[in-house]
Amino acid sequence: MLIIGSHVSLGGKEQFLGSVKETLSYEANAFMVYTGAPQNTKRTALELMRIEEAKALMDSHHIKPEHVIVHAPYIVNLANPDPQRQSFAVEFLTEEVKRTQALGAKVLVLHPGAHMGDGPEIGIKRISNGVNQIIQNTKDSDVIIALEGMAGKGTEVGRNFEELKAMIDLIEDQSRVGVCFDTCHTHDAGYDVINHFDDVIDEFDTVIGLNYLKVIHVNDSKNDQGAHKDRHANLGFGFIGFDRLNHVVHHERLKHIPKILETPYVTDLVNEELSYPPYFYEIEMLKNQTFNPDVLDLIRKTKGKH
Ligand code: FE
Ligand code: FE
Ligand code: ZN
Repeated sequence: MLIIGSHVSLGGKEQFLGSVKETLSYEANAFMVYTGAPQNTKRTALELMRIEEAKALMDSHHIKPEHVIVHAPYIVNLANPDPQRQSFAVEFLTEEVKRTQALGAKVLVLHPGAHMGDGPEIGIKRISNGVNQIIQNTKDSDVIIALEGMAGKGTEVGRNFEELKAMIDLIEDQSRVGVCFDTCHTHDAGYDVINHFDDVIDEFDTVIGLNYLKVIHVNDSKNDQGAHKDRHANLGFGFIGFDRLNHVVHHERLKHIPKILETPYVTDLVNEELSYPPYFYEIEMLKNQTFNPDVLDLIRKTKGKH
């Protein structure tokens, strides 16, 4: 069975319960949340997150906890040259692992960090040190920290399989570390996701090991292979194209891995302040393995609902 879902929101009155309801509205069986705004580190107290109601709803709709993913905010940087910022990142991510555990999820996706001019080797060491500390601080947890492969913009660390492997090698408890494969990032990083995806997967297996792969982010890309940009496009409206992404999603070797869409909301043509989630229709296309070239119009017409 296809394990597929999207990024969904978490907030407002309904909190985590709302995240599950949104997932069900897309007819998805997996999902990913940020535990608060991805661009800041303010977080709601766990008692207010309506976790038990959410878990009961998940249970009655057969959404498995191992198909729930948490994404750490992308502003914390374990590779920051400033030791104070590094310790802040460790402290925040320690709490984030605990929140992930409390939500019943098993995987926390983390952008490894940016070396900010000190070079990837130093960046790799700082990140692995940080991850080791976070794992130490949460010894009784089984949450896996999945390092996301990056597009390689700026001084991002984790821009190829070798850098991800180098970080994993420095982790003391490797049962607590994994990798998140983002199709847009990997394409932007220079890998041939379009014409030789099977070779890319072979290479991942050789360099890192497929057993480390915990999540796939399914995104088209607004840029050419190797552009190092990281701008996600709706499925079939970027350089990768629907057929190749469909191939990834239905790949035999990746069957057991949750697939999460992080494609952009579709903007209304009349009122640019309005935008609609594409996920119900994008997931439907992947289930049917058929691209609808008019899907963006359909999303605008229905406001993303069905
Ligand atoms: Fe990400
Ligand atoms: Fe991603
Ligand atoms: Zn991205």
